[in-house]
Amino acid sequence: MPFTSVTIKSELVRQLDALGVQPGGILLVHAAFSRVAPVEGGPHGLVEALLAAVGSRGTLVMPSMADDDDVPFDPARSACRAVGMLADTFWRMPGVLRSDSPHAFAARGALAARITRPHPVDVPHGLESPPGRVYELGGQVLLLGVGHDADTTVHVAENLAGVRYRRPKYATVFEDGRPRRYEYGETDHCCERFGLLDEWLGPQQRCGIVGRAEARLARSRDVVAAALARLRQDETVFLHSPGACAECDEARAGCAT
Ligand SMILES: [Zn+2]
Repeated sequence: MPFTSVTIKSELVRQLDALGVQPGGILLVHAAFSRVAPVEGGPHGLVEALLAAVGSRGTLVMPSMADDDDVPFDPARSACRAVGMLADTFWRMPGVLRSDSPHAFAARGALAARITRPHPVDVPHGLESPPGRVYELGGQVLLLGVGHDADTTVHVAENLAGVRYRRPKYATVFEDGRPRRYEYGETDHCCERFGLLDEWLGPQQRCGIVGRAEARLARSRDVVAAALARLRQDETVFLHSPGACAECDEARAGCAT
């Protein structure tokens, strides 16, 4: 008879601590809650465990970007289901700040206001973006039940490397009180090859189990440095070969010259 035991909160905190989550630090989390579950208290319980792991002087950060590009983003209302149930639970919780951007991130803790201050729409993941700030402030990246293909910090490295590939994107923003379609090119593709970071990071990445999920933890600076070194050798290292993937082909075709 299959039996799935619920991971209690104190055990989650112990697992996060054993993995190397730094008390008092900044922790940027990308998660597939269904892989971690079942946990005591559901998604709220997992957020509480993450907050306990970083402690009262730490800062917890999650992606919180808009699902709908056709309506202006409202930080008090817009759902972010595409980035997962945990992230869509987090921004609704008390004390959590959310940046006012279609590329929003949410944060709670000591550096939450600094991380969620305004950031540009046309460069979603540059240095002046929440993951760029986590990088500059020396934070850690935690992947729970997801791989580096979900790791926005790798986009920070692409930005620093000055890669030229772009995909056409748009968002709807308020301008003079009216919604306006804002078009821009985003450094984006299928992101599958971000999985190469597992190999490149080697022992700089700690792997373990949190709840029932495989977990990866690394310093944001190590993720960026590893990606940047390879991007400087080959700008298209993260793109699939021509003809192999529609999203990577679109990115190549949009290469700014
Ligand atoms: Zn691809």
